[in-house]
Amino acid sequence: MFPAPFAYERAEDVDHVIALLHEHGDEAKVLAGGQSLLPLMKFRLATPAVVIDLGHLEHLHAVAARGGRVAVGAAATHQAVIDSPLLRERCGALAEVVRRIGDPQVRHRGTFGGALAHGDAAGDLPALARALDAEFVLASQKRRRRVAAADFFTGHLQTVLADDEVVLRVEVPDLTGWSFAYEKFAPVSHAWAVVGVVALVRRDGNRIADVRIGLTHMGDVPLRATAAEAALRGAEAGVEAVRSAAALAGRDTSPPSDDNADATYRRHLARVLTARALGRALDLTVPNLETM
Ligand SMILES: Cc1cc2nc3c(=O)[nH]c(=O)nc-3n(C[C@H](O)[C@H](O)[C@H](O)COP(=O)(O)OP(=O)(O)OC[C@H]3O[C@@H](n4cnc5c(N)ncnc54)[C@H](O)[C@@H]3O)c2cc1C
Repeated sequence: MFPAPFAYERAEDVDHVIALLHEHGDEAKVLAGGQSLLPLMKFRLATPAVVIDLGHLEHLHAVAARGGRVAVGAAATHQAVIDSPLLRERCGALAEVVRRIGDPQVRHRGTFGGALAHGDAAGDLPALARALDAEFVLASQKRRRRVAAADFFTGHLQTVLADDEVVLRVEVPDLTGWSFAYEKFAPVSHAWAVVGVVALVRRDGNRIADVRIGLTHMGDVPLRATAAEAALRGAEAGVEAVRSAAALAGRDTSPPSDDNADATYRRHLARVLTARALGRALDLTVPNLETM
């Protein structure tokens, strides 16, 4: 499979990316790690006239503390996120989720911003971004804006990104002291999630002070298990609370039916994986999950 002919532009810096996007608009596509864009181009599902390469721009690779949050440069590779000591200390959930993406080759080429900009309903990062209440910093020639993760994803492979806009960085909160776990069900270890659940928990003694649960592939956009979260806030951190909350994990979701699983099975997976993720985050053994 060969892509349709296209012009290749290796951007000199971020301003150059923005100028090229302004010039070419919907004729252009940004290239980061190429792990999703190049397959689409080879299948001719994407036929950009101009490809603007930003993967090499150092400025977009930085992972840095920023006003009480951590800013992850859009072109930071998945592996760089896993290896970052700052993220390990302040937002370890990122590495927990990112290490479940694809295989080592994909993780060394694919980027944090590229995976989010791609907006794949089965991707591992969008649900994490929702659970973290991450903020996207976007830029075009006309404006710079910040968009909350809750507003960024608009459908499968669709986001609010305009044709002339680039993701500069994604900011995540400092969750020092929170525990977390990601449970992903996939047909083989390096594949996309049939369903994934990330749980983030802050304990206050034996109580659950705060909790965030992100759901992958339970709709065409990433979701929060809000009913389960509400049931857990303030509850005693025990097996009963986990089981009751997990039973609510499929509420207000609209999972797809496809060759891997139908919607009913996906709701079942959401319950089981939520119990597992919460159990691991809280260091509890939750029995009889499969019968939930
Ligand atoms: C074999 C294989 C297995 C995989 N398994 C998984 C998996 O298990 N879980 C998972 O989540 N993902 C998986 N992926 C996808 C992987 O995470 C990719 O890294 C990701 O989807 C795209 O990132 P990229 O940097 O390669 O982006 P690219 O392919 O370069 O770009 C993807 C899209 O994002 C746009 N884009 C990229 N960067 C920016 C930016 N800074 N601003 C605006 N738009 C931008 C591009 O224009 C394009 O539309 C897999 C990929 C492969 C090839």
